[in-house]
Amino acid sequence: MIVVHAGQRTSGGQSGGACYHAWTHLAPGRHSGAAPLEALVTDTSLIPLSPAKDDDFPRTAVEPVAPLQRVAPDADTSAGEHEAAMDTIVALCKKRGLIFQSSEIYGGLRGAWDYGPLGAALKDNVKKAWKRAMLQLRDDVVQLDASILMHPRVWEASGHVAGFTDPLVECRGCNSRYRADQLPTNAKGEPYCAHCGDKGFTEPKNFNLMFRTYVGPTEDSSNQVWMRPETAQAMFVDFAHVQLTSRQKVPFGIAQVGKSFRNEITPRNFVFRVREFEQMEMEFFVRPGTDEAWHEHWITQRWNWYLRLGMRPQNLRIRDHAAEELSHYSKATVDVEYRFPFAWSELEGIANRGDFDLRQHSQFSGKDLSYFDAERDERYLPYVIEPAAGVERSTLAFLVDAYRQEEARTASGKVEKRTVLKLHHALAPVKVAVLPLSRNDALVPTAREVADLLRPRWPVQYDDAGSIGKRYRRQDEVGTPFCVTIDFDTVEQDRAVTVRDRDAMTQERLPIDRLPDYLGEHLRTEL
Ligand SMILES: [Zn+2]
Repeated sequence: MIVVHAGQRTSGGQSGGACYHAWTHLAPGRHSGAAPLEALVTDTSLIPLSPAKDDDFPRTAVEPVAPLQRVAPDADTSAGEHEAAMDTIVALCKKRGLIFQSSEIYGGLRGAWDYGPLGAALKDNVKKAWKRAMLQLRDDVVQLDASILMHPRVWEASGHVAGFTDPLVECRGCNSRYRADQLPTNAKGEPYCAHCGDKGFTEPKNFNLMFRTYVGPTEDSSNQVWMRPETAQAMFVDFAHVQLTSRQKVPFGIAQVGKSFRNEITPRNFVFRVREFEQMEMEFFVRPGTDEAWHEHWITQRWNWYLRLGMRPQNLRIRDHAAEELSHYSKATVDVEYRFPFAWSELEGIANRGDFDLRQHSQFSGKDLSYFDAERDERYLPYVIEPAAGVERSTLAFLVDAYRQEEARTASGKVEKRTVLKLHHALAPVKVAVLPLSRNDALVPTAREVADLLRPRWPVQYDDAGSIGKRYRRQDEVGTPFCVTIDFDTVEQDRAVTVRDRDAMTQERLPIDRLPDYLGEHLRTEL
């Protein structure tokens, strides 16, 4: 997700004259012929785990679950009429403690947000769903959890020290700072200061978006390190070690979920553009020549991921980057864009990075990161396909997409407005709410028993405060798929409970003993 603006990219193209001193015990000599691999390896645990791949193109074609909406680089970004206003979403998040300002009691810190109990659970569920799709359901992607602080040379090799900059200007009237390409404009299209109205600005200065800090007690340049602005570089730097020890063969991927930091000049749009955020990135290493097929494979995979998690296809599209928009490392990039209330905006970038990264790190570190393909008896620098998604952006998009205002009939027949988050069950922070009809002593033991019965299998919330209608509305607002009500018939007559479905609002009466099976059948918690 690195953004390098036109005219400020790094020089990139380093010469590729790598000397192939092998780092791997697996690399047999060029004329090893029919010698079995085992004979050449002293430690047999290092024999590749993945089965022989006679074809290193994607093995099976992936079908899109809905037709891929692919738009041109200059497609209109305006969101048009939107059923959910951003203010409404922000207010709901604050009211229910999903997401709110960081250090609020001190007035907050711009571009920093906290996720409360339900927000943290929702965000966790987004990450779990990603890991499930990228890791658990595949045998060709492995996980990495790398350090945020890395050797400073990493960021020289990657191009971030020289090129990860935004153009900064200052208002001549009040010194407010802006990104030169994001200045507000008046009806005549002239830029002006939103604070004082002045139209004079300083010349743009390059401002590096990486946060710097120091390791150890002295703050001098030799101890300076950067807070990583992306998780990707660790996958390149650790490529050889991970490939060898995981016994994977190209094509394979390394995936990581973790925090990154960017000193954005103007954080905005709630959690969309922030200074501290989480990324879900995967670097998929392929043989040059198979990269374009793999790029298409991953575009469809990632398109399907959002739709399988319930996102409506009319709010999702794939936008190709124009040639001049491509980052210095990229052969081709598409963005997965979501129709946010403020504009169509990027959720995820899927880039074909060529061999830029491994080439740079081979050069800067002096360690050969080329790969020996034993089946082809061929050595090459793998190309990389990178689907890189933002956790907060995805979470916000799932929230916006799930948000509905509906009319609902109450028990007394009155029509009331209800707010409901129609979240995919896998994303819902709470799966089942257990609601005794009242706080009557006769109901509490059985209600507690029901909650205890369900808690080992699903996140359960026990709520006995307020009218039952009010409690249903509270659960609807945070997307709880099922509510279980315990009433006097439950304890006096049938040991049965009422199960209410969030979306259909139907109610079904079931014996308590049947409840775990019933919920097991109806909760779709897997993709
Ligand atoms: Zn000003």
